Amino acid sequence: TETESDSDSVDGNTLVVDALAANGVSTIYGVVGIPVTDLARTAQERGMRYLGFRNEQAAGHAAAAAGYLTGRPGICLTVSAPGFLNGVVALANATVNCFPMIQISGSSDRAIVDLEQGDYEELDQLTAARPFAKAAYRVDSPELIGVGVGRAIRAAVSGRPGGVYLDLPADVLSASAQRTPPPRIVDPSPRQIPAPESVDRAVALLEQARRPLIVLGKGAAYARADAVIRELVEATGAPFLPMSMAKGLLPDDHPQSAAAARSLVLADADVVVLVGARLNWLLDHGRPPRWSADARFIQLDICAAEFDSNRPIEAPVLGDIASSAAALLAAVRRSRIAPVPEWREQIEASKRANVKRMDAQLHADVHPMNFAVALRAIRDVLDDHRDAIVVSEGANTLDSARNIIPIYAPRHRLDAGTWGVMGVGLGYAIAAAVETGEPVVAIEGDSAFGFSGMEIETVCRYKLPVVVIVFNNGGVYRGDEINAHSDDPAPTVLLHSSRYDTLIEAFGGVGYHAETPAHVAAALRSALTTAAPALIDCVIDPAVGTESGHLQKLNRLAREEEP
Ligand code: ADP
Repeated sequence: TETESDSDSVDGNTLVVDALAANGVSTIYGVVGIPVTDLARTAQERGMRYLGFRNEQAAGHAAAAAGYLTGRPGICLTVSAPGFLNGVVALANATVNCFPMIQISGSSDRAIVDLEQGDYEELDQLTAARPFAKAAYRVDSPELIGVGVGRAIRAAVSGRPGGVYLDLPADVLSASAQRTPPPRIVDPSPRQIPAPESVDRAVALLEQARRPLIVLGKGAAYARADAVIRELVEATGAPFLPMSMAKGLLPDDHPQSAAAARSLVLADADVVVLVGARLNWLLDHGRPPRWSADARFIQLDICAAEFDSNRPIEAPVLGDIASSAAALLAAVRRSRIAPVPEWREQIEASKRANVKRMDAQLHADVHPMNFAVALRAIRDVLDDHRDAIVVSEGANTLDSARNIIPIYAPRHRLDAGTWGVMGVGLGYAIAAAVETGEPVVAIEGDSAFGFSGMEIETVCRYKLPVVVIVFNNGGVYRGDEINAHSDDPAPTVLLHSSRYDTLIEAFGGVGYHAETPAHVAAALRSALTTAAPALIDCVIDPAVGTESGHLQKLNRLAREEEP
């Protein structure tokens, strides 16, 4: 009867939450406003966790990190036009980094938008999102909400993961429709088994190796095949190099780690196995002089178009990392892979020399502090807190922290990633705390912190166990540049006198001010013990730090000096 069907009809918001819940979504990161406020309320009513941010970009980065950490798409909710566009930075960053996330955005009246008649927050969002997303969909009737959410989920996590955009116009969210069971996506990220001949080809090449090298990337960390990957590395006896977010997949103190002999192994390896790592700028595109011109490559990846992007891949293995690593391990066990003993010896010698050199820097007696001595203090404290997830961004702060802070467990380091982007820190830190319940230490350059600094209010509001450490050297790169042309500060200069610790006090968190390594260590120990929101203002000499950190070859002057 008519009354029965009326009582079965619900609004679009409810249908969206039904579809998300049916597919296991339990957390939404976002910023509310017209037209999505009721969607967030409905989600909360239904027992989902909604975390409200101060800016959509940080909410989007949080959703992307949640996707990386859980293997399920992280959800970011944004309002129309400007809120949507703020979120698109994170959507694009997720796509580039292969993190599964879905940006769900409300949008304005299509009839007005499409005729450009001037609506509130008018923008053709679907078209705007498309170039930055792995997939982009719009739902134009409430009956199709379940299908739209389901498609977004599968697109985000299947194959090479990425960012998906889902556009929900205001009238669809407020329309009423029959409540029917939403589609439950079966096996959203199916296994993809590699072809046996591709595995045999890879092992045949590995058998010819005298100086093999395994490079582990964040694709390998994402795949959650931790045990199999460890067995594979150990069965080959080859040194491995973790990319920054793959640190901890095997612990950094594993005897086969060649992280401290990076230049040597890149230059001298004769057969390289890339496991969920791309030969992009982070690996100097696999080119000489960084790499040997004679190196031969095996690559495990889920995306066939990735092969041969920079160097010819002699043995491509197409499949998901868990399946490919397992198949390779079985074949390796039947094979004869025999690195020459000198290879191990050379690497050990190089590691010893580099560790010794680094140790002198870490224990230098310098006031004010430089990056190395402050990071040594952090390293020593984190050695007793190996469950902590480390987030890192900045230029010098990022580069030095990557080398100095060891990681002991998989997916325990999140950083600036494939783009080397700033502004991810607080969003990643919040998601890490929310998704894992583990303590989080965000090691931030002062400039990097500024991009998402207001999210410390979010950290305090949700009482998350996040410690932010701001490396305050008063500048982008460094803080001592002089502008000889006017009274304005130079482009790289920030206020070195800033007391970042007082910011978090405004929101009820604990602030620490640290001028020596002993201060840093005491502050971090205390913050980790209380597991409450904290910020350590870590005063660094403005005269230390190099332009662009380790990326000096991208600077104009350095380029011009090249022969
Ligand atoms: P890094 O920056 O750590 O070197 P990249 O992000 O460049 O790592 O590379 C990750 C690679 O891993 C991408 O080419 C992606 O296609 C691949 N990848 C991501 N997830 C999987 C998976 N589950 N199985 C196989 N390959 C994957």
